[in-house]
Amino acid sequence: MLSTVLKYLEEKHYCPHCSGDLVLCHAPAVHVGDGLGWGSEYLFICLNDRCPLFVKGWDYIANQYGHVGSYRYMEIPNSKESYSMMVVGKEAFTGSIVDIEALKRQSERYQRQQEALACLDTCVEQNDLAPALTILLDDSARIDDRKRAVGMVTKLNDLACIEPLRNHVFKDPHLQQEVNLAIAQVLAGNFVKECPYCSELIKARAMVCKHCQRELAA
Ligand SMILES: [Zn+2]
Ligand SMILES: [Zn+2]
Repeated sequence: MLSTVLKYLEEKHYCPHCSGDLVLCHAPAVHVGDGLGWGSEYLFICLNDRCPLFVKGWDYIANQYGHVGSYRYMEIPNSKESYSMMVVGKEAFTGSIVDIEALKRQSERYQRQQEALACLDTCVEQNDLAPALTILLDDSARIDDRKRAVGMVTKLNDLACIEPLRNHVFKDPHLQQEVNLAIAQVLAGNFVKECPYCSELIKARAMVCKHCQRELAA
């Protein structure tokens, strides 16, 4: 959950070996049920290359097991569990550091989504296209909310929805179909059509586009 991981980011965890800050990382992907999972999507890890545990680990593992590797100190969030985790190289986990900026953006988007959802049911009576568009254009929103938003867009019959909807690629083909249908209904409801050449909106009855002057098939 996003709120959980944002809370983790505020927590400070320190390595008992080097006193350095632990870094929040994505736990390595392992198959559920093979008993190797950490039971957490995230891990706090000491990535300090001068950490004594990491520095001494190379010799220890070479002597003990005869292969290349060392240890990183690791804590599991929301638990008292900590481990010395075996790693095969310096780079292990550096690629899975949690991207804080991306998370913040995700969190802001989530906020906007929640605000729009709260207004979705009343947006038709409020004559407010914004919440319906926000949900419809948000690929992370739930599909039934997005389908509900398509219905609202149709009822609102506001031509301002055409450009944003036309400029969005809907990954779900069924949703795309519903959006295309909604666009057709809103155009018809406003007695306009899109010029097939320049995409400007023109009267449904027009035989010549007033924007590009091209003749339109009857
Ligand atoms: Zn350390
Ligand atoms: Zn035109």
